[in-house]
Parts: sequence; C-alpha cells; structure tokens
Amino acid sequence: MLLEVTQVFDGHNDVLSALERFGVDEAVQLFEFGCDTALDLVKAQRGGFAGGLFAVYVPDDRNPANLETLREATYHIPNPKPIHWTDALARIKGQVALLLELKSRGLLKLCLCSADIRQAMNSNRLAAVLHVEGADLIDPELHVLELLYAAGMRSLGLVWNRPTIFAQGVPYSFPSSPNIGDGLSKLGRQLVLRCNQLGIIVDLSHINEAGFWDVAEVTSHPLVASHSNSHAICPHARNLTDNQLRAIASTNGIVGINFSVSFLRDDGRKLSDVPIDQVLRHFDHLLGILGEDCIGLGSDYDGTITPREIADVSTLPKLINAMQKHGYGDELVEKICRANWLRVLKTTWEECGSNQPTVEIRNE
Ligand code: ZN
Repeated sequence: MLLEVTQVFDGHNDVLSALERFGVDEAVQLFEFGCDTALDLVKAQRGGFAGGLFAVYVPDDRNPANLETLREATYHIPNPKPIHWTDALARIKGQVALLLELKSRGLLKLCLCSADIRQAMNSNRLAAVLHVEGADLIDPELHVLELLYAAGMRSLGLVWNRPTIFAQGVPYSFPSSPNIGDGLSKLGRQLVLRCNQLGIIVDLSHINEAGFWDVAEVTSHPLVASHSNSHAICPHARNLTDNQLRAIASTNGIVGINFSVSFLRDDGRKLSDVPIDQVLRHFDHLLGILGEDCIGLGSDYDGTITPREIADVSTLPKLINAMQKHGYGDELVEKICRANWLRVLKTTWEECGSNQPTVEIRNE
C-alpha cells in the first residue's frame, strides 16, 4: 500500500529552462494550468511533488545533442566552449525572471532557509530552491555570486558541461571516466570558500574527478551531488565512482538519483524503455555504500529523457510503490523522498550562521 501522503522533495529539475522560450507570462500560465513539461502544478499535485531544487543554466547553443549518436553503443560529444560571464548572465536572466514571477504570483515559495521549506510544505505550496547549474555567469571578483545570493540562490554547481574559470566539467561520453582534466583553479577554491561562508550548496554533479576531490578538500560542508548515479552500473562520467560515493558518505552528504536514461542504463543509450527495476538497481548500489541517510532523488525532469513509466512528476507514486514492493520500509522511503535532502540543506544553510530564518521582533 502506498504511503498515505508522500511529499517528495527532489534535487534537480530544469522546468525553468524548458518554459523560458514561451516568455514569462505564457510560461506562468503553462506552469499553473499544465502543459507538456514533466513538471507543472497540476502534475505536481497529482504526484505529491512538494518541492525541490529548480535549476537555471546556460544551454548548449550548438545543435541539440544528436539523439541518433546517443543511441549508439559508444558516443562522445565534446563540451561546449567556455563563454564570458557577461554573456552567461544575459542568457539566464529570463529563467530567473520566470522563477521570481512564479513566486510573486504565489504559485511557489522561493525558499531561502529550512523554515521556508517546512512552511511551504505544511501549507501545500510548492517549495522552490534556486540552483544555478554552472558558474559560467560569475565574474572573477565574485560580485555576481553576491548578487545571485541576494536574489535567492542557495545552491550552485561550479560547472555544467562547459569549462568555467573555476572548474572543468565532464563530457557527454559513453563509456567515460570522470577522471579527465585539471582540478579547481585558484578562483575555484575561493568560490567554494565564499559559498561556505554564505551557506550556498556546492553541487558536484557535472564536475570532473580532480575538481571533485579539490572541493572535498576545501569545503567544510556535506558533499552534495544533486543528480548523479552509480558509475559501477552505468560507466558514464556523469556518474559517481564508488570512491566518490564513499567520500560523500563520510561527510554525511547526499546523492540525488538521476532519472536520465543515459545515466541509468548499463549501455548508456538514450532509449526510454528502461524498467523501474533499473532505477532500483542504482538505489541498491548507492544504499550499499552511502547507507540510508545520504541518498535522495535528483530527477532531472525537463532536462533529459526519463524512463517511460516515470516520465513526469505525476508518476512519482509509481516509483514509491516500486520501492516499497522492493522491500524498502516506510522510514527509508521517507528519507529518500525528502528527509535526507531537508537534513543536508538545513546543515549547509544553518551551520554557516549567516542564514538563520528571520526572527520576528515584537514591540511590547
Ligand atoms: Zn545537469
């Protein structure tokens, strides 16, 4: 039997970039009343999707990845070239504007601290955390970092696929190892330290292995890979090796399971005929190394091709049902679906001491 109400908090979606092309007004309507994206308010209510990290990023302006190529047994798509931070900033402002408009129309709550998430979930309002996927838009002086923080950003990936002045990402290749390229630049280390001070999550999905270990050395926060799977099962560089998983577990961090078929399938192909059992194989492997407290969801909805059976957020109960049939107890399901994410966010945001929820001052 399904848990009565399973509120899901998810580590990664790309709905803002998926809706950006419609312009803010139309995009808001589509999000509110439903459309063909994997995430909208109608599907969220149906599937118990209560919130998550909402990503903004600078897409690849080249022709979309050649899907035929990705169906081959092996493929290699080189990373896009780096772009100047001013161009990157101009390119994501529409996505941020859409998020802020959804907030101002009351369709979601932009969450700046754990209390905000709790309040949103208790009042049935979608809880959104602004995640910037790739630091392409941050200047060498880190002024834009402060600007983004002021706008509500609470999670940052140092890199998407293209290199930045801070770090290097892995290419979209299969099979591939994350052990490619150099680690963090000096600026990259400074960026991590400033994120620590502000209480911004430093997301390790997409970063190469040398960069991963550099962040692990520099940061004082739990390690987070918001949307990555097991490299032992699917040898794609976007997935995490067992050593990386052990490092994340040692900091009481989190890995969000990615629903992308390319990171789930043993053969890495972009084909959607993937049974839910394959998702559970990744869960089992990760649980074996991470234990029950360091694993969550990182669906990547609206950023990728997902298994047909769990094609959008309304189908999340199917996944939960499959977990239960697979023998996961209610407590573990709850940890995977939300509790682990909420614990890691709370630790990261509140340990730095600069981001406590506002205390109401009464005039007595
Ligand atoms: Zn991503």
